[in-house]
Amino acid sequence: MIGTAVLLAPASASPPAPRPASQGLVPAGAWSWPLPPVPRLVRGFDPPAQRWLSGHRGADLQAAPGDTVRAPSGGIVSFAGHIVDRPVIVINHGSGLLSSFEPVRSTLEVGAIVSEGDEIGMVGAGAHCDALCLHWGLRLDGEYIDPLLTIIDTRPSILLPLD
Ligand SMILES: [Zn+2]
Repeated sequence: MIGTAVLLAPASASPPAPRPASQGLVPAGAWSWPLPPVPRLVRGFDPPAQRWLSGHRGADLQAAPGDTVRAPSGGIVSFAGHIVDRPVIVINHGSGLLSSFEPVRSTLEVGAIVSEGDEIGMVGAGAHCDALCLHWGLRLDGEYIDPLLTIIDTRPSILLPLD
């Protein structure tokens, strides 16, 4: 009977194509480092097996107090202020992608439009980085993903044939 039901469904009612896996939506290699030119990775993305467990929902880039933080991609500032004990700035890049940086002191206000490479603030104190690194969290539709996927293209290299 299940097969019959499927056959009766009109083609126009078929659901949209399934969304590709998270990594497929991230512009691999297309974004730039928030701490240019190439910061050292202090601690990588280490998501917990379950939401309620501890883990590391982002990447920590080596930094010094006052280092300039730049937008890795264009977007709109959706939060700039303090969360508990640390200054945080969040950029909405569109397509469900949200970057959060901490500890970052910023003079930008919510709604400010930033382009890739624009200064968005300075490394401050607080949280686990506490002026020694920059924590970059990246969410796709609310789920944390590895922000380095946007910069380091982990796919196999494709060599173009010679003429
Ligand atoms: Zn971190």
